[in-house]
Amino acid sequence: MFLQEIPKDLFPVEINVQLLHTGLMKISDILQKKKLTVSFEIFPPKEDSAFEGVIRCANELSSLTPDFISVTYGAGGGTSSNTVKIVSHLQDSGVTPIAHLTCLSSSRLEVHHIIDELHNKKIVNIMALRGDRPRDPLFIPPGDYRYASDLVTDILSRGDFCVGGACYPEGHPESETPEQDIRSLKAKIDAGASFLTTQMFFDNEIFSQFIDRAHSGGIHVPILAGIMPVTNARQIKRMIELSGACIPAKLQSLIDRFGHDDQEMKKAGIDYAIEQIVDLPSRGTKGIHLYAMNKSDVVGAIVGGLGGIERFTQ
Ligand code: FAD
Repeated sequence: MFLQEIPKDLFPVEINVQLLHTGLMKISDILQKKKLTVSFEIFPPKEDSAFEGVIRCANELSSLTPDFISVTYGAGGGTSSNTVKIVSHLQDSGVTPIAHLTCLSSSRLEVHHIIDELHNKKIVNIMALRGDRPRDPLFIPPGDYRYASDLVTDILSRGDFCVGGACYPEGHPESETPEQDIRSLKAKIDAGASFLTTQMFFDNEIFSQFIDRAHSGGIHVPILAGIMPVTNARQIKRMIELSGACIPAKLQSLIDRFGHDDQEMKKAGIDYAIEQIVDLPSRGTKGIHLYAMNKSDVVGAIVGGLGGIERFTQ
């Protein structure tokens, strides 16, 4: 039995997102004002032909009244113009957006161009990321930035932005020890990042241990818990390869039982995400950040299972 069936009519036929939200704010101010936030993450299309579909998804997600929506940045910046277009669309619709920006594979000039473009469009929130190392062995990064903390400093020198950073409850794959991981994270906070969002994790105990390590390491900014709903067995295999996240026995048994059937796996994954989310506020998170994977039906079902964002965050 599943807690949550996916409702057929998740979204209003005509969405007037303009009416749904009133303020465009710095995320640091939203976090200060609210006990708990709920936010979503979407990614820009690689092909321009898929742009309208992503905008439709953004509108559907906006109608669920999240505190903000983040838009990722393609590795190497290949889809940077789509990231800027989508955050602008969200901003024009009255939803607080945050644009992701990576730095490792770009020159300082290219990065400054994007920061200034966001500033001109009055986007006030930027997620500062290093980006993964390029897979192409022939590509030599320009070398203007080494760590995300260098980007945080640069962004803050070019405008009055709120800057977020990434963190890893199970440690970043390149970190030598959990202690070094926390020291690097602290450097990002000292550079001016005002909140952190975690990599996906599936075991809330790991999140609790990370929060304790962060506090012991002097990190006291809000930490948002990144939750990835598992919607099919292939996706989870790929995500684990990329993130290195541990799969607890309970999730593994769901994958073993339902992995062969996409519909059943989707329902089980939604229920698992809901269970994870309702348990997290007592573990020191300041917000739930749902990796929406551009699947508004899945996010709608999770929000429905929580009784709506407003009720859940009260
Ligand atoms: P950093 O904070 O620079 O850390 C990278 C490594 O360097 C870590 O091992 C860290 O311990 C070490 N380090 C950092 N500072 C120091 C220091 N001062 N001294 C010594 N070691 C140090 N990727 C994309 O391409 N686009 C996206 O939109 C995107 N969004 C993401 C959103 C979230 C919430 C998360 C968790 C990840 C996201 N990523 C994205 C992936 C991210 O770019 C990679 O995980 C990347 O490998 C590390 O980025 P970072 O910003 O955490 O790097």
